[in-house]
Amino acid sequence: MAAGWSRSGREPLTAQLFVTTPPARFAERRYAIRVLLEEFLGQSVRVQPGDLDYTAITCADSSGVVAVPDGLFALPSSLWLTPGSLPKEPVAWVRPREFLERQILPFHRSPAIYEPAKTPTLPRTAPEPDALFEVPMDLFGGTFFMLTRYEEFVLRAMDEHGRFPASASIAFRQGFLEAPVVNQYAEVLWAALRKLWPRLRRPRRTYSLWVSHDVDSPFFVYRPARARLAALGLNGVAGDLVKRRDRRLAAKRLRAIRSTLVRGAPGDPHFNLKRVMQADEAFDLTATFFVMAGGGGPFGAPYSLCDRNIRALLREMGARGHSIGLHASYESAEDLGALRTEWRALRSTLTAEGVSQEPRGSRAHYLRWFADSSFRQLDQVGLDYDSSVAYADHAGFRCGTCYEFSTFDLERGEPLGLTERPLIAMESSVIDPWYMAKGHGESALGVFTQLADQCREYSGTFALLWHNTRLLGADEIGLYRQVLESCS
Ligand SMILES: [Zn+2]
Repeated sequence: MAAGWSRSGREPLTAQLFVTTPPARFAERRYAIRVLLEEFLGQSVRVQPGDLDYTAITCADSSGVVAVPDGLFALPSSLWLTPGSLPKEPVAWVRPREFLERQILPFHRSPAIYEPAKTPTLPRTAPEPDALFEVPMDLFGGTFFMLTRYEEFVLRAMDEHGRFPASASIAFRQGFLEAPVVNQYAEVLWAALRKLWPRLRRPRRTYSLWVSHDVDSPFFVYRPARARLAALGLNGVAGDLVKRRDRRLAAKRLRAIRSTLVRGAPGDPHFNLKRVMQADEAFDLTATFFVMAGGGGPFGAPYSLCDRNIRALLREMGARGHSIGLHASYESAEDLGALRTEWRALRSTLTAEGVSQEPRGSRAHYLRWFADSSFRQLDQVGLDYDSSVAYADHAGFRCGTCYEFSTFDLERGEPLGLTERPLIAMESSVIDPWYMAKGHGESALGVFTQLADQCREYSGTFALLWHNTRLLGADEIGLYRQVLESCS
């Protein structure tokens, strides 16, 4: 088991594939083709526009053509990024074994998100028998739709935090949110290529579990100025009783104040990140900790990178081999300047503390990721990766994949340097009564395990988020350990 991200190996490529597409939406087509053929299947590809009404794939030094029909990209340009270009529901389901015959696939059926717009005008006489293989699915349009979150750009449905809810997605409505559809499409394409060119090889991948922790609240009551602790803490207790009307929370805070006054930060129940590191290390995992570096208002960071306890933790994370990323503030999802400032603050703090790693990526607080702007903003700031694209209200494959992938700017129609590491499950999405409501028992464990098994089928990465503030009670610590055990 590897703790990082599943990637293709670096074995030499055995063939060069040539892909000729219809002329319209060439940048979008080339992006989807490259993700499937280069990034997912590890092939060397040249893509060019041509005078065709389908996508034709040929192989150097071999005869034959694999034809993929047009669906999304064949729609009139006036419909692009409008509701008129969304898939028709209910979606049709295809059983690829029916046209791929004896090829072994890790699934029985797959949704045809876009159906072919028309029958491809294929060459009337193939150069030799069996030299033409037609895939009856719009693999590239469906891939583009899922990876870019096309429907979210078009519909802009929002919950109270401005996020697109799972319940508004086609994948949820049509029952394929819990399957990595883009990985299925890659397998269909690979099986089609191998039918014509059995000598093609693809690099091996290995399954991995990637654990991450968003550090929203490392202190329950602690503040650096010890003298102010009791006053601030008691203020919090008053808020618990009057504003939040939660006597249990008030009692918990009182106990925490007492413990923190006696023992300092280590007495604070939320100051548990060392124990979280130990829990991960017990399963031979190195985790990624996303740390806040700014932000104000009701959803701002309740701690500062200047705090000596936080700095000591960052040094310890680095020394123990864990990774550190930015937990971008609530506001930064709509404020490029704030995102840039936070990114710089985290980088300079790690340098000042002698942490010998460059932070590479971020996750948005509250998973505030927007299809029209987030990828572009993160790319502009210079991050290598993002890992925010998961629905808060339902675990699953929001982007349709368990592989990391290059991103695309839908509004400007151009590929970006930023990579997405799709998050598959956040603990609260599965556990909490206002989301999937599975609690802490067998039923919750079953959800995590099934999602991990899907990732395993494609030798992908099961990206899991667990907040440190959830690892306090025996129930949730127990579930977390069971999840690590069964998913690593
Ligand atoms: Zn957060």
